[in-house]
Amino acid sequence: MVAEPVRELLSPRRVKLGESSEVRRLLPNLGRRMVGAWCFVDHYGPDDIADEPGMQVPPHPHMGLQTVSWLHEGEVLHRDSTGSLQAIRPRELGLMTSGRAISHSEESPKSHARFLHGAQLWVALPDSHQHADPRFEHHAELPVVTAPGLRATLILGGVDGAASPGTTYTPIVGADLALAQGADVRLPLEPDFEYAVLSMSGEAHVDGVPLLPGSMLYLGCGRSELPLRAESDAGLMLLGGEPFEEELIMWWNFIGRSQGEIEQARSDWMKGSRFGEVVGYDGAPLPAPELPPVPLKPRGRVR
Ligand code: MN
Repeated sequence: MVAEPVRELLSPRRVKLGESSEVRRLLPNLGRRMVGAWCFVDHYGPDDIADEPGMQVPPHPHMGLQTVSWLHEGEVLHRDSTGSLQAIRPRELGLMTSGRAISHSEESPKSHARFLHGAQLWVALPDSHQHADPRFEHHAELPVVTAPGLRATLILGGVDGAASPGTTYTPIVGADLALAQGADVRLPLEPDFEYAVLSMSGEAHVDGVPLLPGSMLYLGCGRSELPLRAESDAGLMLLGGEPFEEELIMWWNFIGRSQGEIEQARSDWMKGSRFGEVVGYDGAPLPAPELPPVPLKPRGRVR
């Protein structure tokens, strides 16, 4: 396979979640399912939720993946079936490893800040750790790398010698890049990784390409550095990793390798077994949708 740098703009798909909130889905995308092991990216907000309940995601299950909650504004209260109850604040890492089975809920606290702005991301677990024990990690203090006009916070993996304490199962990186207006920097990269940059706010040029909030630029492999320039204060997320070569079935909130595994997970959730219980959420768990009438087939990272 030829691994070389590209500049491929990924447009968001607008998806309604619940009655009031809309998110911009960057992965999976029409032409691309994954960037490294990153397999799901939603960007939401900034939403004015002053007179609204804000985020209200009832208990639902996960299998075969990790979830990353990343905020720029606001606060999210996380509960899960391992007994976690954790408030996640801007630039703190909420990392949930589902392994074989977990369930969780996410909500804005009753009394909350006016604006909610963040990203919800999933990382696929490799075959070797697909059935790992479920666990939740909260890291309030994350390593930061700075250069003139750049403050990079490590979410997962490492950049320039600094590494996140978050548990990873494949060679991967996630970093929050806060750029000051006028910044003109080069970020060191791993040539073996593929990368993408998501714009959260502001006006920035990524490898010369102007990137608007809610869009993502896929960069391919084979780069040892990435030029970044900011026209205004800007917030970006760098996502990357070794290309993930295993084929996956992603259906609803599950990642598996066979139709049987997905069917089993769905039926276990609907029976109330295996995925445990989320305590304290004021509302009923989410029912699973119907499976499609056509067989689910494992697919690779590129369409
Ligand atoms: Mn979830």
